[in-house]
Amino acid sequence: MSLIEARDISMNYRLEGGRVVPVLRHVSFSVERGEMVAILGPSGSGKSTLLSIIGCYLRPSSGSYRWQEMEVTEASDSRLARLRSSEIGFVFQQFHLLPRANLIENLTLGSAYQHAFANGGAEEKAAELLARVGLASHQSHFPNQLSGGQQQRAAIARALMTNPALILADEPTGNLDSKSAEQIMGLFEEVHQEGRSLILITHNQEIAARCERVMSIRDGVLHEEGAFPRSPPRKTPTRPLASVQVTPNRPRRRSMEWSVGGEAATGVQVAWRNLQRYRSRSWLTMMGVIIGIAAVLSTITLGSYTRKKIIESYESLGVNKLMVRVYPRWYFGARDKSPVTFEQLQDRTDLTPLRKLFPEIRLLSPVLQVFTESIEFGGRAYKEARILGVNDEYFQITRRRLLYGRGLNRFHVDHKRRVCVLGYEVARQLFSRQDPLGRIVSINGNSVQYTCQVLGVLAEQKSNSEWFNPNRQILMPVSLVQMIAQHFESQVHEVNVQVRPGASLTDLTTKIKQFFHLRYGRSAVVRVDSDDLLVEQLKKFLNLFTLLLTSVAVISLIVGGIGIANMMFISVNERLREIGLRKALGARDSDIRRQFFLEAMLLSGAAGMLGLVLGVAGYHLLLFLAGKVFTQVHFEWVFNVSAIVISVASIIAVGILSGLFPALRAERLQITEALRSE
Ligand code: ADP
Ligand code: MG
Repeated sequence: MSLIEARDISMNYRLEGGRVVPVLRHVSFSVERGEMVAILGPSGSGKSTLLSIIGCYLRPSSGSYRWQEMEVTEASDSRLARLRSSEIGFVFQQFHLLPRANLIENLTLGSAYQHAFANGGAEEKAAELLARVGLASHQSHFPNQLSGGQQQRAAIARALMTNPALILADEPTGNLDSKSAEQIMGLFEEVHQEGRSLILITHNQEIAARCERVMSIRDGVLHEEGAFPRSPPRKTPTRPLASVQVTPNRPRRRSMEWSVGGEAATGVQVAWRNLQRYRSRSWLTMMGVIIGIAAVLSTITLGSYTRKKIIESYESLGVNKLMVRVYPRWYFGARDKSPVTFEQLQDRTDLTPLRKLFPEIRLLSPVLQVFTESIEFGGRAYKEARILGVNDEYFQITRRRLLYGRGLNRFHVDHKRRVCVLGYEVARQLFSRQDPLGRIVSINGNSVQYTCQVLGVLAEQKSNSEWFNPNRQILMPVSLVQMIAQHFESQVHEVNVQVRPGASLTDLTTKIKQFFHLRYGRSAVVRVDSDDLLVEQLKKFLNLFTLLLTSVAVISLIVGGIGIANMMFISVNERLREIGLRKALGARDSDIRRQFFLEAMLLSGAAGMLGLVLGVAGYHLLLFLAGKVFTQVHFEWVFNVSAIVISVASIIAVGILSGLFPALRAERLQITEALRSE
């Protein structure tokens, strides 16, 4: 049986615009195992096209092409890839060595796809073959450090890597001087004597004359020229042959020996080696993703961190305060039913039960505001003062700070002591230079007059409230104020409550309203105020702010991702020949796709990890520096789980999106186009 047999093969190229160019017309021939055949023909006659078909990387438009018993025109792409990777070796006119890889790397380029090296051993084999073609001392040279003849010898060594049955050479000496050409032909003859079949394309009669058989092609039509009159066999100038016996590689079934994990591992290795070949460009591209991820991570983390801190500090200003006002309903009729009719708030029936029922209440103070005509001391009078009856907890609830002296205590409140704490303005007006502590001041209310002793003075407090200006207040025990004040003014209708940290103001508000409703029915009107709304507004604003920052970071990440995609696209175009070569060496389309995809994933993965590290280091550094500059900020370790999750998800998304399209493009690339490109 012939090794290959072509019957009636025609090949038409379809040009853009639908024009069909016939290149091969009804070509039939066969080549036996161990034959050395030359194909002669002028340029443009279709020699390379025929060789692509013989090499199983171009399907003819019509006709039958058989490799032993297999019909190539009907075989699957991956079956053909396997055939190329085990049975066929290619040698090209332009050598097609990867410029950025040394000779060993060039020879092992296909080993990831070649079954022969599924269990390793590629480098040993490469070294052995390089020695055989006389390049033992050039293993780690790069192609541009070699002469053309040396490069072609390396290319022949590469073609021999898988011990193929057939070597195809497309004008292998076309770019070489006659001495190098002679060496190359010597090598080919040696290879032929090992029992391999060779098909050489040439337009050099002399070279054709050294083959056993010549076919010539003109305008796509093949003519058998028959056996050449053989000149006596020459002695090859190269070293004597190692006794390599060519055993035909058995046609293999779909190989199951390559585990998925193994393939992925080889893929990662190949991708890693490629990235190293383009190291500086890879780094530059990665910078985009590194910075993007670092920015995403740190803006999200710092955004939510500052949000939390701002809200905390805002809460410390007293937003955990509720002001509860309860008034009798004026038009509450006699027929309306209620358990108890409300008149005023009382300790025993209202305030104490509130404390007991709701553990969220941390502090509670009644507030009773009374107008006064004047407060006098030592001949001076101040007429703008307001008297405020409160208990000892009021100071904490409202976070009043004392300038001198002390505040009210429990004893003062329980025993109606005649003591007072003066607002800043009151004390300033009455005592400009004297020490107010311990002085007795006299207070004139509506037709009542009484005295009290100054316990302390409040620190000045910012306020733009005329009605409730803390600097003009005189704070006294609520029990005392109730006793002195006139009937209606002595009724307590307001309580201030401090809520425990973490408890919800809104929930407590509802509960307090329910409490009064159950107790007084419709006879009481309950109003609860808090600064809660302000915090809600603040939170909304801060959320918006974080969102804005994050979107800026995300945009930078997208830019980085586009950078990677761009680089992968450029490298697909730049590496067309590499892709073609890999396919010729047996890579399946899916191998190529996987390789480019893995490269993109590897790039963005490595960049992403570095970005995470940089981000964490960066925002901690920022926090540290902020701690040095602003006394309010203290350094602490901050890790925001959702920020990390979002960042990792972005890394994966960037990898997938930037890898997908270049990978698909690389996959679809035809070997012939790829190899033709410069
Ligand atoms: P040779 O190798 O003998 O010089 P080729 O096989 O490379 O010739 O090309 C034969 C003819 O086919 C040429 O006229 C060339 O222009 C044409 N040809 C080759 N490849 C393509 C292609 N992909 N699309 C269209 N025409 C092509
Ligand atoms: Mg050609």
